Amino acid sequence: MRAVGECRTGEFAHHYDYIIVGAGAAGCVLANRLSECGRFHVALIEAGGSDRHPLIHIPAGVAGLIGHRQLDWRYATVPQVGAANRRISLPRGRVLGGCTSTNGMVYFRGHPQDYDEWAAMGCTGWSYAEVLPYFIRSEDNIVFDGPSHGSGGPMRVSSYHRANELAQRFVDAGAAMGHAVIDDFNSSDPAGFGLRQATIRDGMRESAATAFLRPARGKPNLSIITGALVDRIILKDRKAIGARILRKGNAEHLAANREVIVSAGSYGSPAILQRSGIGDGGRLQALGVSVSHNLPAVGRNLQDHLVAPVQVTTRSSLPYVVDWGALPRLVKNAAEYALFRRGPLASNIFEATGFINTSETGQRPDVQLIFMPTHRGPSPLPRQRGYGIMVALLRPRSNGEVHIASADPEDPPLIDPAFLSDPGDFEPLLKGVEFARNLLGAPSFQALDSTELLPGSNVRDRAALEDFVREHCVTVHHPVGTCRMGPDSASVTDPSLQVRAVEGLRVVDASVMPSIIGGNTAAPVIMIAEKASDLILKKSPLPAAHLSSAPIQGE
Ligand SMILES: Cc1cc2nc3c(=O)[nH]c(=O)nc-3n(C[C@H](O)[C@H](O)[C@H](O)COP(=O)(O)OP(=O)(O)OC[C@H]3O[C@@H](n4cnc5c(N)ncnc54)[C@H](O)[C@@H]3O)c2cc1C
Repeated sequence: MRAVGECRTGEFAHHYDYIIVGAGAAGCVLANRLSECGRFHVALIEAGGSDRHPLIHIPAGVAGLIGHRQLDWRYATVPQVGAANRRISLPRGRVLGGCTSTNGMVYFRGHPQDYDEWAAMGCTGWSYAEVLPYFIRSEDNIVFDGPSHGSGGPMRVSSYHRANELAQRFVDAGAAMGHAVIDDFNSSDPAGFGLRQATIRDGMRESAATAFLRPARGKPNLSIITGALVDRIILKDRKAIGARILRKGNAEHLAANREVIVSAGSYGSPAILQRSGIGDGGRLQALGVSVSHNLPAVGRNLQDHLVAPVQVTTRSSLPYVVDWGALPRLVKNAAEYALFRRGPLASNIFEATGFINTSETGQRPDVQLIFMPTHRGPSPLPRQRGYGIMVALLRPRSNGEVHIASADPEDPPLIDPAFLSDPGDFEPLLKGVEFARNLLGAPSFQALDSTELLPGSNVRDRAALEDFVREHCVTVHHPVGTCRMGPDSASVTDPSLQVRAVEGLRVVDASVMPSIIGGNTAAPVIMIAEKASDLILKKSPLPAAHLSSAPIQGE
């Protein structure tokens, strides 16, 4: 890591060609690709520290990372009126790799039609056929090949060596209810049940940092600056010329000769733009921030995947549990992992999933069932024997916002996803919960001597179910949309991800998605950054894929 010099007022401590703000999913990809040719000096600035912590690298350590004091921003929503006035916790990785160093490692790209919808909204260049080559470029899939997959790319994608037996029972239950069994969720319509893939390399987490940053480290033209909180972008005559960072109690100014690229995630990126005076002018003035560009869309259009839990307790020994009875198995698992990097510790636990459509008319799945072969309670370690399903709303209509609370970069932003503010969100969620309850009662689970814990036998009618969802819903951590790209002048970024009416400034991360995709968001963000790197370097886009079947028609 290159040291950053001290800065006297108005002076730049260092000059770079590109400054990338945030070393998360997008930032690590950009650091690799922009430094690749060796011609440009790139600075990657990250508020968190190194990714050396062992819990990051052991896949089953994922539960211990959520809310971690050093590795997580530990945000929470403002009280959610639609969710019984609760403040719902919002973990976010604050470390090299960002959330990809703390996330569930599930590799899923969403539905092809999600991207065709972006193109139909006017985001030229972002249809599925046009983004597929960027998914492929980033990928090193050691299981699937064919026209939808890449091998030899930076990001290892693998299947589980030995999934929990309950995961297979979940897939069997879905099949018994007439749903398709899916081998590869990323090559066709994902509607159905199956075991999924994860970004795990030889039994260790593959984060954006291990895949993209590690190979680029040590290059003389890449400076990785950790422990540096970006306060704001330095603007001159509506042109981004650098960034103001806070490090070890000092403020430093870094210059960018070409561009500043903000990749601080769906909460961090709008907050940085707002502190830089780009946002809703009235709100910024009220906080004492001088307005550089009145762009009210900054921070709006926040969308996230809400989940409601269905859980059972069981006497079966199949679930993952940490208690005295499981001690011999835990010792065996630890030994297997230490010797061979295999077994349950080499898994992210969330091995099976199902995508269903609860509406009569829609063609894309609107609910995802995330199977958990373990009990999920307040403690990170499962102390009780149980298993369950998290029912995720894939296409929420509720739409919220993120705003800075003050001009102080140390102050957490006010995050209001407005969960369940649109009553239309209840229908698919409630149908999904009923579906999950039935599924857990299917023959493949019947011998397991289970009792429903959540929602619980007393929760039966619609009103009780609605109350249950309000009281128990949480998020699966996929916030997007707060620096929405679009063709219209009201959007934050244009389809080449440049901030409107500001020169030399782009946003590249989950916040640019115009609408949430129907699945996990890490692979899509990596795709966005791959494509953005070509846009920034003014390279011709990769040729669009020839899709063997016609794209799935709109709803
Ligand atoms: C607990 C959890 C589980 C998840 N599970 C999955 C999963 O299994 N599969 C999946 O596909 N997706 C998953 N996700 C979502 C996925 O990881 C994110 O969508 C993705 O990482 C977002 O990428 P990003 O580049 O937009 O932001 P991030 O990866 O969050 O990166 C932003 C980076 O910017 C830094 N930063 C922010 N503000 C500043 C500042 N002011 N100064 C300097 N640095 C700053 C942050 O510290 C962070 O490193 C999960 C997320 C979480 C939190």
